[in-house]
Amino acid sequence: MTSTHAELTKRHRAVLPDWLALYYDEPIDVERGEGRHVWDAEGNRYLDFFGGILTTMTAHALPEVTAAVGEQAGRILHTSTLYLNRPMIELAERVAELSGIDDPRVFFTTSGTEANDTALLLATGYRASNQVLALRNSYHGRSFSALAVTGNRGWSPTSLSPVQTAYVHGSRRRGTPFAGLPDAEFTAACVSDLEDVLGQLNGNVACLIAEPIQGVGGFATPPDGMFARFKEVLDRHGILWISDEVQTGWGRTGEHFWGWQAHDANGAPDIVTFAKGIGNGLSVGGVIARAEIMNSVRANSISTFGGSPVTAAGALANLDYLLDHDLQGNAARVGGVLREQLDGALGRIPTVVDVRGKGLMIGVELAHADGTPAPEIATEVLEEARRGGVLIGKGGLEGNVLRIAPPLTLTEAEAREGGRILLAALEKAGRS
Ligand code: PMP
Repeated sequence: MTSTHAELTKRHRAVLPDWLALYYDEPIDVERGEGRHVWDAEGNRYLDFFGGILTTMTAHALPEVTAAVGEQAGRILHTSTLYLNRPMIELAERVAELSGIDDPRVFFTTSGTEANDTALLLATGYRASNQVLALRNSYHGRSFSALAVTGNRGWSPTSLSPVQTAYVHGSRRRGTPFAGLPDAEFTAACVSDLEDVLGQLNGNVACLIAEPIQGVGGFATPPDGMFARFKEVLDRHGILWISDEVQTGWGRTGEHFWGWQAHDANGAPDIVTFAKGIGNGLSVGGVIARAEIMNSVRANSISTFGGSPVTAAGALANLDYLLDHDLQGNAARVGGVLREQLDGALGRIPTVVDVRGKGLMIGVELAHADGTPAPEIATEVLEEARRGGVLIGKGGLEGNVLRIAPPLTLTEAEAREGGRILLAALEKAGRS
């Protein structure tokens, strides 16, 4: 059925859930992508600075990934975890080797939500407790248990829960109690909050689940080393640490391959979850855990689509490309160029109150002169940037943080062009 753009939007709204968000007054009908660009059905070209919410990790239509997917699809589209699956085994070996976890085991899922669900299943089973900890303002997915550890209230539609969650400070956002403290004091305050929460719970706690940099939460970035201090406390109680690397993994932060490494390059979490970028748009997610934790589940299970040959082959080609071309290094270099440009808005454009993040994961927080969050200006910036030819995201508890996370092959020229358009959009928004 062919439809005009307006009809398509109407059809979308009529048949999909109300809570499935659509960006822009006139939603974009994305038709094609190549490199760092996408095109809509009208032929307009955009620099993609959001990459399908950090899924397009390397580039759109990366020939290596397309070829690997095509080749594998031509042989067999799907088999079952009941049989040997070469691409899945190879991908698991590669992920295990990169994980930094001792004696690692890898389980594949099809999404980040499912990965976190599995991690919670492992941790609560291993520790024989359904009491868990999460950070305030977190986002871990939209399933029954992932929502139960999601502190972002916009994503907590149910108070019924398969786990008991206690929330800990650790999200450095403006307007929260410790946010203005210098790094060391912020960390100390959060560690003491963690100890207080544990004191109140006074029982067996299974795990802490946390994002190294909060994604949906607006790229809220804790001081380096904070999670290492958390880990000292958790280790004393035997509590497991789950690092949700769905947005921060695979070198996006530039300085490290995993987000957790900013805290202690040797102090690996007990469990790491991943998704999004590894598949470059294919639905691959998973969990890495020490063997004793992974194998503590008593089951005779399958994962029907987890690690399917086609997605695993695509993810392998994507990882090869990422490592062969040092895209982590590129994220640091080109991310630095973009960051410098955006930092220039601080003190010059009054609504810009913070620029944060690492590598190619940059957040720009917007507020009014009286310090209150400015989500409507963030929305205006998105529209204006789109008119200028750049797609970005927004996030944060109040929706007042711009999220900028281009594919990691971004060139310096593209960074400068996109940065210039974003600065112009920031200057213009909120004026009228
Ligand atoms: N964890 C984090 C940190 C995320 O950002 C997301 C998705 N935005 C998820 C988990 C859930 O992943 P998915 O949407 O693939 O289920």
